[in-house]
Amino acid sequence: MATEIEWAWLAGLLEGEGCFTLRKSKKGTPRWPMIQLGMNDADVVKHAMEIAGVGQAREEERVRAGVSKTFYKWDVTRSEDAVMVMRRILPYMGERRSERIHECIKTFESLTDYGEKNFRTQTHCVRGHDFSIPGNVYIRPGDGKRRCQVCIVMRREGVI
Ligand SMILES: [Zn+2]
Repeated sequence: MATEIEWAWLAGLLEGEGCFTLRKSKKGTPRWPMIQLGMNDADVVKHAMEIAGVGQAREEERVRAGVSKTFYKWDVTRSEDAVMVMRRILPYMGERRSERIHECIKTFESLTDYGEKNFRTQTHCVRGHDFSIPGNVYIRPGDGKRRCQVCIVMRREGVI
């Protein structure tokens, strides 16, 4: 488990070097939140990934002014993971980044809500929780709509 100091360090690093983007859907709509970090320092990128505990690391050879240099990247492409990191670092971020992060989280949440409207025909929720397990389904008394109980609890506990 990363300490608060480590999360704050990660926030500072991403404030300067990170990219908070919405990956496009097949139709070209910006949809899925992701985080990217790219630097020349392998140790820094590795440390960032270790703190967050999510995402993938990769290397890229870059040629600049005829000199080849290894560029180290950390990508969090799974939106659920990206949103988790965004929420975690949000209190430390400056105005511009905070705004961007809010936009990413809002977009992700609207997708999730959309998923929950189609619960009648789904066998799993948008996060993959199995609806054939009775405790996983919450039927709203008002309108009889099915919702994912696991996601409700996760949201309540601030995990998502
Ligand atoms: Zn769920």
